[in-house]
Amino acid sequence: PSSTGKRRIWIAGHQGMVGSAIVRRLAGEDVEILTVGRADLDLRDQRAVQVWVAKEKPDVIILAAAKVGGIYANDAYPADFLYENLAIETNIIHAAHLAGVERLVFLGSSCIYPKFAPQPIKEDALLTGPLEPTNEWYAIAKIAGLKMCEAYRRQYGRRYISVMPCNLYGRNDNFDLSTSHVLPALIRKFHEAREAGRKEVVVWGTGTPLREFLYVDDLADGVVFAMNHYDGAEPINCGAGSDVTIRELAETVGRVTKFSGELVFDTTKPDGTPRKLMDSSRMAALGWKPKTSLEEGIADVYGWFLRELGKTK
Ligand code: GDP
Repeated sequence: PSSTGKRRIWIAGHQGMVGSAIVRRLAGEDVEILTVGRADLDLRDQRAVQVWVAKEKPDVIILAAAKVGGIYANDAYPADFLYENLAIETNIIHAAHLAGVERLVFLGSSCIYPKFAPQPIKEDALLTGPLEPTNEWYAIAKIAGLKMCEAYRRQYGRRYISVMPCNLYGRNDNFDLSTSHVLPALIRKFHEAREAGRKEVVVWGTGTPLREFLYVDDLADGVVFAMNHYDGAEPINCGAGSDVTIRELAETVGRVTKFSGELVFDTTKPDGTPRKLMDSSRMAALGWKPKTSLEEGIADVYGWFLRELGKTK
């Protein structure tokens, strides 16, 4: 604890979409939030991470730092996704242990589960079958991270846990069309098509894959809830509870952005996994549920996107 007796919580990755939402979520709580920018600490630098964690000695670490990207980025930069994520996780988790940090919350992703896992996917589906090839590099790194937490718990009694979110969206997302996930890509494409008076928007793949989308501020609430109420060796799923097809998603984004043209499906682009709806009943049994509907969440992000565009003009 700090000199004031407050819990000191380090949010690793506080500039990202997830980390910034966790900072917003904790802002009103009686805790001390620690953050460190990229220029001051390179999380891929093992020595630097150990020195920083030993000096700051947080009570809790929330590991929201990761190299993330959509279906195209994952496939195009396999080395970066595997190396950077492994380096960040092993550096932070081992440094936490060396410094005697009691509690750590690691964030994974629903892509750690097998491509053909029974739906909705329960936590015990982990490592029961092959992964989806378009994001296996990222998934392998995330599986290593959650196993690190399990191993340090087993060998050293550390209370490190792993939370597995479904697909996320929110403020501070990446809107670059070549590296982003589907939701920010569609918001941008629909907005630009409407502005330019175009009659069509191109959506990748067949439109039939199903995805579960959780608003990132709900995830942040779930992460803080898990930090306070969950202490198991297995990961805990944190999802929205229902999924939509990519076509339905595109139609929803069309309504929010007031685009009235046609959808064109580019089937030369990959679909990825057919479905990845998680079973989040473990979180529900502990007493947590998400609050924001998909349409409300998209409207919020679109409002944010427009304000950010306004700033750059
Ligand atoms: P995934 O959940 O790991 O597959 O990641 P994405 O969010 O990148 O893609 C989800 C689904 O949306 C895939 O079936 C994509 O083919 C589809 N999709 C449709 N249009 C787009 C787009 O403009 N960008 C991205 N990234 N995906 C898109």
